[in-house]
Amino acid sequence: MRPLAYTRAATAAQALQACAQEGAQSDETAQGAMFIAGGTNLVDLMKLQIMRPHHLIDLNATPLADIVVSDSGGLRLGAMARNAQTAYHPQVQQRYPLLAAAILAAASAQIRNMASNGGNLLQRTRCTYFYDPATPCNKRRRGSGCSAIGGLNKYHAILGASEHCIATHPSDMCVALAALDASVHVRGPAGAREIAFAEFHRLPGAEPERDTVLEEGELIEYIALPDADDLVAHSAYLKIRERLSYAFGLVSVAAALALDDDGRIVRARIALGGVAHKPWRRPESEVCLVGLVPGREAFGHAADLLLEGAVAQHDNGFKITLARRTVVRALEAAAAGTQVAHPGRGVAA
Ligand code: SF4
Repeated sequence: MRPLAYTRAATAAQALQACAQEGAQSDETAQGAMFIAGGTNLVDLMKLQIMRPHHLIDLNATPLADIVVSDSGGLRLGAMARNAQTAYHPQVQQRYPLLAAAILAAASAQIRNMASNGGNLLQRTRCTYFYDPATPCNKRRRGSGCSAIGGLNKYHAILGASEHCIATHPSDMCVALAALDASVHVRGPAGAREIAFAEFHRLPGAEPERDTVLEEGELIEYIALPDADDLVAHSAYLKIRERLSYAFGLVSVAAALALDDDGRIVRARIALGGVAHKPWRRPESEVCLVGLVPGREAFGHAADLLLEGAVAQHDNGFKITLARRTVVRALEAAAAGTQVAHPGRGVAA
């Protein structure tokens, strides 16, 4: 049994102060202080002794759960708002149906009720070796090796991987946030800063233990969504998985289009999940669609650009074909018109 200190912070300032006194880490496998929100991933990792904080700073009493329209006309999603609360919020349902669909494609109703928005961004990979302390894993312990390279790697990355780690990021919500050009607002010992969503998660490189660019002791306060009303009518989140619920995606796609009165594409957004250490976007794959009439050929070209440089591991060559087809299907679904996800349902009991 290891002793564990626990602080229930009433404000973000109190949480940061408790953290600063300990020297905290917010997303690393370290022994210091850590923030806890819904705990839906962290508690599992603590039970397995993969994450071993000696001080938990509980954020559940902090006033970081608001979802409000921002001065610029976008939306602020509080870090402590629950995933379900976010997906069913009227502003999200009406103005960001892509985000609502992505959240509701994830996990189970019970987990969505508990998991926080900030925690969703900081969840760790579901690489099975990461969760098995008996096996080498560079993300768990740098320099120990990667069991997935040469091991079972059906669920692993085809883009942006390194010789040190081929894990994928597991979030659905983050794929939509990437497509919607969100930004992450954090506060830490050096003050507040804004991080573009595309920069928030890292590729593994030589430091696979670092999932994000968060510095020690930094706390996510809220996620900002820019106004994206032009994308409301034509968006789709398509997730391909081995069973229809409560499963991580093999591949997922967040796609959104803005069309002019002649039906031509004015703006396109495409993000891929399940294929890399972070949601995968490439501006060329979006720019190439501008001015075109939606169609399979144009969408296929966009998918090819998005997947350029994809490299398969032993077990996941199918993902390259699957990802291309899923991008095309998601863009076709977006062009056909947004399907409303679970309208009128509240937070599940
Ligand atoms: Fe660890 Fe990454 Fe290799 Fe999985 S892919 S075993 S998380 S280093």
